[in-house]
Amino acid sequence: MRDQLALLIELQKVESAAGKISARKKDLPVQMGELETKFIGFSVGVETQQEQLEELRKRRKEKDNQLRMGQETLKRTRERLLEVKTNREYQSILKEIETLETKNSHTEDEIISLLEELDVFEKEVKTKEADLDVQRQYYEEDKARMAKELNSIAEELEICARKSGEIRKKIPTEILRKYEQIKSATRGVAVVSVWKEVCGGCHMSIPPQLYNELQKSNVLITCPNCSRIVYWENRNG
Ligand SMILES: [Zn+2]
Repeated sequence: MRDQLALLIELQKVESAAGKISARKKDLPVQMGELETKFIGFSVGVETQQEQLEELRKRRKEKDNQLRMGQETLKRTRERLLEVKTNREYQSILKEIETLETKNSHTEDEIISLLEELDVFEKEVKTKEADLDVQRQYYEEDKARMAKELNSIAEELEICARKSGEIRKKIPTEILRKYEQIKSATRGVAVVSVWKEVCGGCHMSIPPQLYNELQKSNVLITCPNCSRIVYWENRNG
């Protein structure tokens, strides 16, 4: 029975390890998805700002053209002054020039404020772009690390399955059935150690008599409280 118990302990260890690995296998893709969502959110934010910056630059170009055309019109209008015949016409062109000058000056003001806005915005976008590069690097690294881990998890699970298969072959069917029963009733852990009269599964006290028996017995003993198969583990050793 000592041998059987040793095999059960080993089997439980292998299957508990497999359980943890399986949980990680489920968790990793969720984590990868979260990382991706976060990174995409960040890069979309930067893209939006880049588009806004492009829009500002376009507006600046439009204003530059508007000013150039306004200045040309002003020049041509001033030239017309030299050809006027009547005073009335002269006054009318002077008025036109005044209007054009006001308009051009207004466009210049708009360009100045656009330039100020562009200056601030360009710096901001540049910082964000540098930040995005760093974030992208982190994201790629994390993604690669997780993909690698997922690969190794598949291998680890295979190794666990092979090990538990080998151990199971050495355990009598009847004991194995009992192990399975307890395992499914206790959410995965059927074999636990007991130390200082406390069950490692339910953390309840084991009666002293049973504890004594456990230390020298050759039969399979179960915890009176949680029904798990228990074994004595000398933690002083
Ligand atoms: Zn127990």
